[in-house]
Amino acid sequence: MLNTKTISEIKAGYAGGDFSPVDVITSLESAIAEQDAQIGSYLSRNVETALKAAESADLSLPLGGVPIAIKDNINVLGEPCTCASKFLEGAYQAPYNATVITKLLQAGAIPFGRANLDEFAMGSATENSAVQLTRNPHDLERVPGGSSGGSAACVAGDLAIASLGSDTGGSIRQPASHCGVVGFKPSYGRVSRYGLVAFASSLDQIGPLTKSVTDAAMLTNVLAGHDPLDSTSLDAPTLDYTQGLDEGVAGKKIGVPKEYLSDDLHPDVKKAVQTAIAALEKEGAEIVEVSLPHTKYCVPTYYILAPAEASSNLSRFDGVRYANRSNDVTDVLSMYENSREEGFGPEVKRRILLGTYVLSSGYYDAYYIKAQKVRTLIMRDFNEVFEQVDALIAPVAPEPARKIGENANDPLQEYLADIFTIGANLAGIPAISVPAGTAEVDGKQLPVGLQILGPHLGEQTVLQVARAWELLRDAE
Ligand code: GLN
Repeated sequence: MLNTKTISEIKAGYAGGDFSPVDVITSLESAIAEQDAQIGSYLSRNVETALKAAESADLSLPLGGVPIAIKDNINVLGEPCTCASKFLEGAYQAPYNATVITKLLQAGAIPFGRANLDEFAMGSATENSAVQLTRNPHDLERVPGGSSGGSAACVAGDLAIASLGSDTGGSIRQPASHCGVVGFKPSYGRVSRYGLVAFASSLDQIGPLTKSVTDAAMLTNVLAGHDPLDSTSLDAPTLDYTQGLDEGVAGKKIGVPKEYLSDDLHPDVKKAVQTAIAALEKEGAEIVEVSLPHTKYCVPTYYILAPAEASSNLSRFDGVRYANRSNDVTDVLSMYENSREEGFGPEVKRRILLGTYVLSSGYYDAYYIKAQKVRTLIMRDFNEVFEQVDALIAPVAPEPARKIGENANDPLQEYLADIFTIGANLAGIPAISVPAGTAEVDGKQLPVGLQILGPHLGEQTVLQVARAWELLRDAE
């Protein structure tokens, strides 16, 4: 059962000579063969390449011989990168490695398997994948969350040791919450976006999905750092995030944003957050109620800015390069029109339309510029609160994972559920989702995540509080 292990356990096993990287990949492969036809977390796997890498893995490196699944919007040299879109499926092979992949390789890790996602990372349930459905390993009738639904489901189903996802408005944290794993979005600029297919460039951030907070810290150590290839990457020193992880919360001030504990939450989600708050307080954290007064503007602000940026980023998919071209082409305009009409799915088209609209002359000031101004207010809310507290504690999503198909005709309902995750992206701050018990729906117990947010570049505090909660939860 090597597939069930954490990165730390795998490393200890290698160090003790108990098993080898080939054994781990073989174990993952047999679990995948047994279960992934149902779960649908992987779009493709490079088994031969991975086994070859496993044979010659340098176990002295920080992630030596550890396989990591990769969301299929991150370029891995020579592999497909479909973004779960018909536009790229079968038409594109990455001609270079994303910086995070280069870093994983330098640390000895083995990128293994491409995880499903909402098309171009637009969505919250992985149902917008144009390639396949991914099911929640805790209940196959339910979605895994999204957009990194494949990355969360493969870790939750023990079909991966850990994975990478991307988070533009919650896409690492929300699926982690729904699948009962850890999902960490570092600060904007902390991890290079070079080689991540851009959705909304001012919000996108790559991060790990893991089975433990320690594993998330270990992966962050490898991923973080300045990259001259990404102009938004920060040239700021990184820390060893595994150091001081067990420092605890005694003496730390933790804020509870009152706008985040509304009565709209599923009662068990609210209870999970309150249980964590009480436990952390008992451990010596000082809990204070704080206010983020512009929270109610997070969803409309995000759903103007993210589509605006997406409409620009996706203009490169025009049938000329990178992707599939329509066969129905008579001139250059019909090539653009028909390639985009055939290549993009309905949600991506909706975002492009929204984004183009809010950027169009006459509406630019009323929507785009206004949203930028509100974004500043939202950032200020967080800055002011972090003058008073070290970290914030909050829910990740108002409800646990919903049934497949439930919001099919109601995109607005789907957008509204992003309310608690979007703020961290708009403010560029780090935030993590850590499993925090379950919520009962239709007689079933479904995973619930607890969100911990920190100030810009406060990765260490976030991970420390998360680890403290993880220990308390496991001790219960
Ligand atoms: N659910 C959000 C959206 O649909 C966030 C997606 C993401 O973080 N990539 O845009």
